[in-house]
Amino acid sequence: MSTRIRNVTVLGAGVLGSQIAFQSAFKGFAVVSYDINADALEAATKRYDTLVTTYTEEVPDARDGAAAAALDRITLTSDLAEAAENADLIIEAIPEVLALKREMYTKLAALAPPKTIFATNSSTLLPSDLKDATGRPDRFLALHFANRVWQFNTAEIMGTADTDPKVFAEVVEFAKAIGMVPIALHKEKAGYVLNSLLVPFLNAAAGLAFGGYADPPDVDSTWRIATGAPLGPFQMLDIIGLNTPYNIMVHGDAESQQIAAWLKENYIDKGKLGLAAGEGFYTYK
Ligand code: NAD
Repeated sequence: MSTRIRNVTVLGAGVLGSQIAFQSAFKGFAVVSYDINADALEAATKRYDTLVTTYTEEVPDARDGAAAAALDRITLTSDLAEAAENADLIIEAIPEVLALKREMYTKLAALAPPKTIFATNSSTLLPSDLKDATGRPDRFLALHFANRVWQFNTAEIMGTADTDPKVFAEVVEFAKAIGMVPIALHKEKAGYVLNSLLVPFLNAAAGLAFGGYADPPDVDSTWRIATGAPLGPFQMLDIIGLNTPYNIMVHGDAESQQIAAWLKENYIDKGKLGLAAGEGFYTYK
């Protein structure tokens, strides 16, 4: 491995935290997976068991027991001091609530050794919103993964003006070492690269259907045929699940709020939440 990072701690073992921890363990790192209490750790254990199955089915290198072996490299704990004490890198994937994250960094600042790099997986907060709570702004940045990390393997890396370039470079190497394609942002941008592109794109598609200009399947056909993309925006919305775009749009401008209301009335309130629900803009078997 070309990275000096060996011991990785992931805070929060929810949807993304469990994936980041598992992917790191799968690539050979010793991982501590922290969550708040016994119930959360029990839920995490189930997530990890599901990930063993998913990796075995979907990741070619994970056959022959490699996914099960990854699980042996993960230690679960609800003791934050224990989670922090040996970490070279702590990746924080706790709920997207500013006060909660700041409280976590304040605690970590006292518990982690000086060598430890802190990285946030936050999707919507900027690292600048958190850096003063870390007590080490030079060793703090954002490392942002996409859901289904083993398949959609981008890692967007975004520091603040205070982030030490050597720390940034070290995290780029770590991202490569766990099989991600590192995407370096040169300065802070809400939404990073991916969501800066995706959110306006999906909003524009929803606006076409909401405004009665074209039906979702025709919008999708246009995008697929004219650009060669494998999926249209409504297919993507079904995969993401309609609650997430709804929650973004409901806080947007007047038109976004109207689109949010349309999504709620015509889809969400009817249980058409997307692929996972069996129906969204399309019906799935
Ligand atoms: P989640 O709700 O699935 O998981 C959050 C986990 O944090 C839970 O296991 C919860 O028990 C735990 N938790 C709650 N309070 C905590 C605390 N005080 N300290 C430690 N752990 C605590 O959330 P998620 O979807 O995994 O999102 C986590 C972070 O990852 C967020 O910042 C989110 O923006 C980001 N993210 C999510 C996605 C996604 O698609 N879900 C994608 C990229 C980034």
